Amino acid sequence: MISPVWHPFHQHGLGEPIPQVVRAEGALLHLADGRTLIDGISSWWVTTHGHCHPRIAAAIAEQAGRLDQLIFAGYTHEPAEEVARGLIGLAPRSADRDPLAHVFFSDSGSTAVEVALKMALGYWHNLALDGLARARHRILVLEHSYHGDTIGAMSVGERGVYNQAWQPLLFDVGTIPFPAPGREQATLDALEAACAAPEKPAAFIVEPLILGAGGMLIYPASVLRGMAAVCARHDVLFVADEVMTGWGRTGTLFACEQAGVVPDIMAVAKGITGGTIPLAATLATGRIFDAHKSTDRSRLFYHSSSYTANAIACAAAVANLAIWREEDVPARIAKLAQGMAARLAKLADHPAFAHPRQLGVVAAIDLIAPDAGYLSDLAPRLRAFFQERGILLRPLGNTIYLMPPYCLDADQLDCVFAALAEAGERFGVRT
Ligand code: PLP
Repeated sequence: MISPVWHPFHQHGLGEPIPQVVRAEGALLHLADGRTLIDGISSWWVTTHGHCHPRIAAAIAEQAGRLDQLIFAGYTHEPAEEVARGLIGLAPRSADRDPLAHVFFSDSGSTAVEVALKMALGYWHNLALDGLARARHRILVLEHSYHGDTIGAMSVGERGVYNQAWQPLLFDVGTIPFPAPGREQATLDALEAACAAPEKPAAFIVEPLILGAGGMLIYPASVLRGMAAVCARHDVLFVADEVMTGWGRTGTLFACEQAGVVPDIMAVAKGITGGTIPLAATLATGRIFDAHKSTDRSRLFYHSSSYTANAIACAAAVANLAIWREEDVPARIAKLAQGMAARLAKLADHPAFAHPRQLGVVAAIDLIAPDAGYLSDLAPRLRAFFQERGILLRPLGNTIYLMPPYCLDADQLDCVFAALAEAGERFGVRT
């Protein structure tokens, strides 16, 4: 029977098989045909503590029987209040910066980014109403970025084949070159020039320390710090998209911590519920919130969705926060990072691989192969190859990356790296 399901980022015309997963636990996915897969990318970068963590599963079940969903305009519930307090307590902070103090809920990374952009423009709009500033509309972005697939999120991301159909709808942005090695100062200079331009930007949005979907491109914390300093100097809002980097991925709870950066607005999602159920949040400092706070109803923040701050999702996030508080997650991450680094160093000796890179528990390496472009057959062929070996990986072009759940054990790591080496032999070109 032909399935009516339309899958994301999947070319149905190629007839590639779509395995059905019936159960998951820890780092393992169990398929309907009895096979298992090691989840090497945390089911699209969300599963932090492993699949079906009992504490989160129990919290979801308990909440589903008590309060499932509530209109969030003008009503509240304790799970949302607790998540908001927890996020504010854990958010990056420093003595000389206004802290992130307000939390707006949504349901995906893309919507958290949309909310961030709308908050930034709303801030300048409301200041302009009071005659305190000129309205600003221009957004600055970093080259090769990915911030999601809604129209606004695509507008601030890299343009390419994957969004060419909608480019007439995307708004214009200022693009700052990526800080490739040796080009760090050029990035900061370009940002400085863009911030000082006559059309003052409203905000600069950036993925801190790693550009994920853009190719797992890592840049130094000093550059992130420099970018935040440039924005502060020019009073351009600094927006951190921690959707992928948050929840320990880069070795610290949030990547901004490594640069001592406190953004004006911060988007989080993915691991906020341990990767179990959709929820996202956009955090903002007092001045962003205060610009929308007034006795004038026309200034309120006009954004919502039916499921904003869904109570079951918030309960899952409360359980995730408890795991972070009560279990030694950083030690688990550090151990896994060490294991990945040791194996990546060995793989890097293989002549078919180049550019090994790692930050926290994100590791990537480029396979030197003929016809390795984004639309070539290489990535799907690699995907099928890894699947045959019991591993779920989804290379980006010729970049093979790992972003496993933090519970991945040494044997599973060995299995993944053995398959990577074999892929080098099978698909790579020896240099
Ligand atoms: N921002 C970043 C940095 C991401 O990596 C992603 C997804 O991968 C998003 C935003 C969009 O998140 P979602 O897929 O939950 O909409």
